[in-house]
Amino acid sequence: MKIIMTNCSIGSEPIKKNTFLAFLCITLLLCLAGPGIADEQKRPRLLMVTEATFPPYEFVEKGKIVGIDPHIVREIADRLGYDLEVENMKFDSLIAAVQTGKADIAAAGITVTEDRKKAIDFTVPYSTQAAQRIIVPKGSPIRTPADLKGKRIAVQHGTTGDTFVREHLHAPEAFENSALAMQALIGGKADAVVLDHEPASVYVARNPDCIMLEEPLTQEEYAFAIRKGRTELLNGFNRELEKMRAEGRLEEIFAIYQKKNQEVAAEQTVTPEMEGFFAGIRQSIYINFVKDDRYMYLVKGFAVTLIIALSAVMIGVLIGFLVAVIRSTSDQTGRFKILNGICKIYLTVIRGTPVVVQLLIIYFVIFGAVDVDKLLVAIIAFGLNSGAYVAEVIRSGIMSIDRGQLEAGRSLGLTYSQTMIHIILPQALKNVLPALGNEFIVLLKETSVAGYIALEDLTKGGDIIRSQTYDAFLPLLAVAAIYLSVVMLFTRLLGKLEGRLKKNE
Ligand code: GLN
Repeated sequence: MKIIMTNCSIGSEPIKKNTFLAFLCITLLLCLAGPGIADEQKRPRLLMVTEATFPPYEFVEKGKIVGIDPHIVREIADRLGYDLEVENMKFDSLIAAVQTGKADIAAAGITVTEDRKKAIDFTVPYSTQAAQRIIVPKGSPIRTPADLKGKRIAVQHGTTGDTFVREHLHAPEAFENSALAMQALIGGKADAVVLDHEPASVYVARNPDCIMLEEPLTQEEYAFAIRKGRTELLNGFNRELEKMRAEGRLEEIFAIYQKKNQEVAAEQTVTPEMEGFFAGIRQSIYINFVKDDRYMYLVKGFAVTLIIALSAVMIGVLIGFLVAVIRSTSDQTGRFKILNGICKIYLTVIRGTPVVVQLLIIYFVIFGAVDVDKLLVAIIAFGLNSGAYVAEVIRSGIMSIDRGQLEAGRSLGLTYSQTMIHIILPQALKNVLPALGNEFIVLLKETSVAGYIALEDLTKGGDIIRSQTYDAFLPLLAVAAIYLSVVMLFTRLLGKLEGRLKKNE
């Protein structure tokens, strides 16, 4: 409703202004508490984190994380009376996850190093044959470690391979996981990959154009990482590991996955029959999306992306309204000085730092010691982030409404809150609708960093496919096409809504 009337004077300040703000606050709190997903498991849960592009130690098969590490840890957890849950995250976040108590144990072919020992405790080693190895394309001039000087070396960020190259050679090309490092090599973006021995053998078996050099760079041992102070868990693991070793069970588990990987390698190797342009594309589509139902990573990821973006935008709009009303009320009437100050700090901090940093701080620091659902953490983080931008959009909308509207409402006997709700905000909202739509579009795409806290959103879904198929092109294209379709659909809907609002005027 718009009032065409000006030059009316404002009477006494309304008492109900605070009721309006209280209402907004309560709605916001309810909204934040709403999506909480209760953990109803009865048996004690043990959360293992890993980075599942490290075959045969951990890899994704038919949507599940499998491999030597999850297998050993599951058997020990079972013996100790726990229910094991396995989560996939970036390798360089694993130690932090255990250190902050986000996870109980990290198992990812983690090499025992003195630096890591300062942050976490290691179990006894379960593999003593580990080493860093060099992979190069066939016919490469790199034949020994000494030839690596000055070459582009791809590694996985945060690994001992990364550290070795940094300390003994020069800055490497550090990728998020070993599959991406291999992709760089295959695509000619790197001259060599430095990687742990066993995953290196698997990758070489799958890519007949690459070879592994004879001479290892390092000798290493793998162990599981457990939070300092959890002595009972550490002792339990050490005891059971020794038992499994004595029983020959460790050897059996190693053998299962080594055999499995040889089979997979034979299956995935690109054969000459697959060549030819169209046959090649058909084969690529089959390998990337159809085989093992890989398209499901995109479907499930898309659902996660939508849930985060839609819930976050609701929180964002609520926070945005609240902050905008406080800020403009304060500007217009000089009230809410303290609240206005808090809002200004919130806007400065949120708009002054990258969303991925905010997400990590909220996950690892603010919710560091509490067990909260990651989806909820992402919704809160993106909601808080979006709120700051929405606030400024709505505030500019409120400011754009002629002050006479407020005065007119008051002179009709409406309270301040009623004038705000029925007169100012509807007009402001209509003016800023395109800008709000834009904010949703930005938010939808920004959620693609959710993978940092181990959420499998759309982008991560594409990453998982790429890590299994070494195809940089198709999965990326599919992910881009899905984002683009949603944005186009949303833009159309928004256009329709705007048209309808104009008609109603
Ligand atoms: N063993 C290496 C390390 O601990 C790499 C492990 C991995 O990439 N999962 O740094």
